[in-house]
Amino acid sequence: MPVEGFPDSSKHKICIRCRRWFEPEEGGMVYPEAATGVSAFVGVLPPRFVRILITKAIGSESNLRFICCECLRRTRRERTGCIVAFWVMMVVLPAILLVLVLSVPSW
Ligand SMILES: [Zn+2]
Repeated sequence: MPVEGFPDSSKHKICIRCRRWFEPEEGGMVYPEAATGVSAFVGVLPPRFVRILITKAIGSESNLRFICCECLRRTRRERTGCIVAFWVMMVVLPAILLVLVLSVPSW
């Protein structure tokens, strides 16, 4: 449940995605890139541990940002959809093209 009324910035945390204030126990800490849809798609390419290593090399744990449970669930669902879309493009489309090329009669 988002905080009603005026939030206390020393006690409450703002979600990086929906920009609402929450109690700290109502979410988790993530690297900021994990929260946006477009970078979740681009983020399919380098493995997650590589991105975490890069983030750690650039900065510190202070790069971690708060995200509420609802946004975290939504982000994971979108990420799964992106990964599925990525593999469909990489596997299914070349397979269809291969079938089309093989079905063309040679002359
Ligand atoms: Zn949120």
